[in-house]
Amino acid sequence: MASAPPAPRASQPLPFASPEQLDPRLQDFLEQASRQLCVWLGSAAERSPLPGLSVLPPVEPEDHGLAPEMLLADLQLVMDGAFNPNHPGALAHLDPPPLPASVAADLICAGLNNNMLAEELSPSLSRLERSLTAWLAEQLGLPAGSGGVAASGGTLSNLMALVAARRQRGLAIDGRAVVVASIDAHVSLAKALAVMGLPPEALRPVPVDSQGRLDPTALEVELDQLERAGLPVIAVVATAGTTVRGAVDPLSAIAGICQRRGLWLHVDGAIGAVFGLVPAHRHRVAGLEQADSITINPQKLLGITKTSSLLLLARPQELVEAFHTGLPYMEPSWGGSHGGESGLQGTRPAEILKLWLGLRQLGLVGIEAVLDGAIQRRRQLQALLTPNERLQLVGGSFHLLAFTPKQLDAAGSQAWSDRTRQRLLQEQLMLSRPHYAGRHHLKAVLGNPHTKPAHLENLARVVHASLDEQS
Ligand SMILES: *Cc1c(COP(=O)(O)O)cnc(C)c1O
Repeated sequence: MASAPPAPRASQPLPFASPEQLDPRLQDFLEQASRQLCVWLGSAAERSPLPGLSVLPPVEPEDHGLAPEMLLADLQLVMDGAFNPNHPGALAHLDPPPLPASVAADLICAGLNNNMLAEELSPSLSRLERSLTAWLAEQLGLPAGSGGVAASGGTLSNLMALVAARRQRGLAIDGRAVVVASIDAHVSLAKALAVMGLPPEALRPVPVDSQGRLDPTALEVELDQLERAGLPVIAVVATAGTTVRGAVDPLSAIAGICQRRGLWLHVDGAIGAVFGLVPAHRHRVAGLEQADSITINPQKLLGITKTSSLLLLARPQELVEAFHTGLPYMEPSWGGSHGGESGLQGTRPAEILKLWLGLRQLGLVGIEAVLDGAIQRRRQLQALLTPNERLQLVGGSFHLLAFTPKQLDAAGSQAWSDRTRQRLLQEQLMLSRPHYAGRHHLKAVLGNPHTKPAHLENLARVVHASLDEQS
């Protein structure tokens, strides 16, 4: 006789939301979770920007699923140990407080659980992404017909740009091809080359001037040398906002060089391209509009929740040509191309939703105010630190300012920056400690709208005192 099938282990219903009525358990759960998050954000100033080690909850699922109260209690433990971007002293990195509309849209995005891979899995959201990327491209001055795709971070945006450039230039299988960028360009370019199967030497570094900007004359020299050596160029990458000091390469001059030589210009504007969104700040990235492709990261300054990066192209079709596969298991696209055909990522969330709603919440006036405030705070800190002749300031025209004592060697600057960072943390001020031009610096990123003049005065006081100990 055949044995009976085993009895189902669970007697409780599975915890999915009802499709037939407003599910009160779902509503309670989300309301409590929202409340917990609001309390966390609203008590940010009482905690350190960088919490100490916290207790982690159990990681493995138990035999039986947990009730919402237990889940929320476990969540709280993780929240207690999380980096605290809403603290006014969170000044270390390009990680601002989250915009409320962006948080709400992220929740809705999760609930919709659409998939940008294909239009039938994200009909309205695919259209939203196409429309908003086209608007952003136009706003940055790219020509009619420009557009792009959202990506999970600037690293991916840069990678996709280089893959598209390489294909357009017919270099897809040429192992000698190189990418030219300044020595201060972002490390993601090195990752991109590794993914593209190129050796580290394929990244050709060009010197920068005393302000950290790529030197166009040196670029011409490098391009001449490459030509003589017969090494083909995939793209020139200009940076609009370098990671340590926020320098902007001379985009118009570089664009002119690229046009004369028929080279692809990619602008890594992960930090700086947002300044091109409003007329009052556009001059800071003049020439951006001449790029073939642009990386822009609204996650880094505007408060759009992570991740929010886009690759924008003058001719978005070139991205589709680089990545389309035909998606044989999907209905054909009815709006242009599937999200999974116009970029590297396959299944991906509709990150465009939180960008769209966040930008709508700020409005153009709000975007300008975020940018104004950031630059204002950088100017204030610069004014507080400049009188100190023992300090060397390293900045640009944006909201980043790095500094280190003039007299110290590599080991001295390492010890000073380590000690001073700890002092600052005791004052609830979190700075980062980049290694730049052979020495450690302290770096303030002034994109946090909660930071007040008094915080910066306190910061300067601690830094000045650290130099007195030095001598
Ligand atoms: C942050 C940054 C990137 C990489 O962006 P992720 O979102 O961290 O992947 C690329 N370029 C520059 C200049 C950056 O500052």
